[in-house]
Amino acid sequence: MSDDRKPTGPESEVSAPSNFIRDFIDEDIRNNKHEGRIHTRFPPEPNGYLHIGHAKSICLNFGISRDYQGKCNLRFDDTNPVREDQEYIDSIKEDIRWLGFDWEDREYYASDYFEQLYDWAVQLIEKGLAYVCELTAEQIREYRGTLTEAGRNSPFRERSMAENLDLFARMRAGEFEDGSMTLRARINMSSPNMNMRDPIMYRILRATHHRTGDKWCIYPTYDYTHGQSDSLEAITHSLCTLEFEDHRPLYEWYIQNLGIFPSRQIEFARLNLTFTVVSKRFLLRLVKEGRVRGWDDPRMPTISGIRRRGYPPAAVRAFCDRIGISKKDSTVDYALLQFHVREVLNRDANRVMAVLDPLRVVITNYPEGQVEELEAVNNPGNPDAGARLVPFSRELYIEREDFLEDPPKKFFRLAPGREVRLRYGYFITCTEVVKDEAGNVVELRCTYDPATRGGNAPDGRRVKGTLHWVSAARALPAQIRLYEHLFTKEDPYDVGEGEDYLANLNPESEQVNRQAFVEPSLQELPAGTTVQFERLGYFCVDPDSSAEQLVFNRTVTLRDTWAKIKDK
Ligand code: ATP
Ligand code: MG
Repeated sequence: MSDDRKPTGPESEVSAPSNFIRDFIDEDIRNNKHEGRIHTRFPPEPNGYLHIGHAKSICLNFGISRDYQGKCNLRFDDTNPVREDQEYIDSIKEDIRWLGFDWEDREYYASDYFEQLYDWAVQLIEKGLAYVCELTAEQIREYRGTLTEAGRNSPFRERSMAENLDLFARMRAGEFEDGSMTLRARINMSSPNMNMRDPIMYRILRATHHRTGDKWCIYPTYDYTHGQSDSLEAITHSLCTLEFEDHRPLYEWYIQNLGIFPSRQIEFARLNLTFTVVSKRFLLRLVKEGRVRGWDDPRMPTISGIRRRGYPPAAVRAFCDRIGISKKDSTVDYALLQFHVREVLNRDANRVMAVLDPLRVVITNYPEGQVEELEAVNNPGNPDAGARLVPFSRELYIEREDFLEDPPKKFFRLAPGREVRLRYGYFITCTEVVKDEAGNVVELRCTYDPATRGGNAPDGRRVKGTLHWVSAARALPAQIRLYEHLFTKEDPYDVGEGEDYLANLNPESEQVNRQAFVEPSLQELPAGTTVQFERLGYFCVDPDSSAEQLVFNRTVTLRDTWAKIKDK
């Protein structure tokens, strides 16, 4: 069952645009298999929101169809009505589009194939390859044997074809109770592959399906459905994660015995990321228990969370290309994702000014009531981004940590008697420090040099520090949500006895700052826009934001921790 090709190491994937899957495809094209046609699919189960692991699969499947002038279908593998929902279908479609991919008119549902799958099950019964079994779930498990022990044949395995046909029809007609019977493939109870030990094809389940309603009271299993769905859509290359490697012989068994189109299944390793979990089941629990704001909480590794956090889709795609495809499970450093986010935002995000921890500054020689507009460059790396006007006035806010009364040697920011530059503004000199009764600094009094407008002194005099600032008169109050990793450990599943991954939830993963001020140009930014707050990081307008209450999420800090990791 295992593939005889050597695993592709992560090192080779970084530089090589190709990968072992593309090698297989090239080989099929050379052999003129399917006349060179390439058709892939992305097959989500609509039982949760997509996460960053799915992004890897989406980029792979849609990327291959793009690069080989092929097609990629979107297919919902909706065989489990109990856990599935229209809300998930809608979110999945939105997320794939946001990532920049298009399935055109090829939106399919496994549930659309239920009638065909039923007919095929009848065919297998007629060939003596399927039977109705009345063992209970527990008995089936017991008869199945173990990895080291062969299973035993079900006492119902030798039923006549006529009896099987009759019972299966009556299962469909609703004559039997939920769970009382199954239809099973008749393969081999002593196969070393557990999946081949007479797997279940149909179960009786009275559950309303989000698409077929109450039409069916029997539902095909995922394993009975997946391969034939690929076949019906004439998928040439069915790319899936490693856990399906052991299921491949079963899919091939169904396809061979039904004599239908054989898709080539190729498995690759799942993406795992440090400091987070990528499993819908575990993510659903965080949502259900209210540990996060929802599926789209900016801390979630879901596509909708990443979007709300302000990660650009181009960064997610670059990340997926960079990690490549391999046969070996590994965990990717979260910092690599952030590295790509910074790369894209550094190029694309406009610079603005905001103060998170404000300290009042009064410019004593600046006329009271005067406001002047100073020109500020939006993106030094992109002249097309233009410039904007930032209001300057007698009272300003600067960042509290940009002032020290008693500065150490290497501190080049503001201090008593020291002159610094205000970005796009003037040189100012601190002349007085105002404190409250407890001795806290509450205000600085400074003078400005009118000749330094725009940030340079005509006499060539230099300053070492440049500070960001906002006008106290014109700045807008804003709520800033600061995000850290959702889990405190690189491996959230690394827990003590009797604990589960929730024990590693980071209680400080979200901190809300309610005292910040931002420059007035941010009033009109639509939700989802990401900007750089100069010297602080990248921040994205949250959907909760309104004209009355601006809300920003910190997308990522400016510091590049990945560079440090690479140097290690
Ligand atoms: P989960 O374990 O989170 O529930 P799943 O595999 O059940 O995920 P599906 O909706 O069945 O989710 O997945 C759709 C496609 O995405 C499948 O082809 C699956 O192999 C792939 N996929 C899911 N998780 C990952 C991952 N972490 N890395 C790469 N591909 C993934
Ligand atoms: Mg699944």
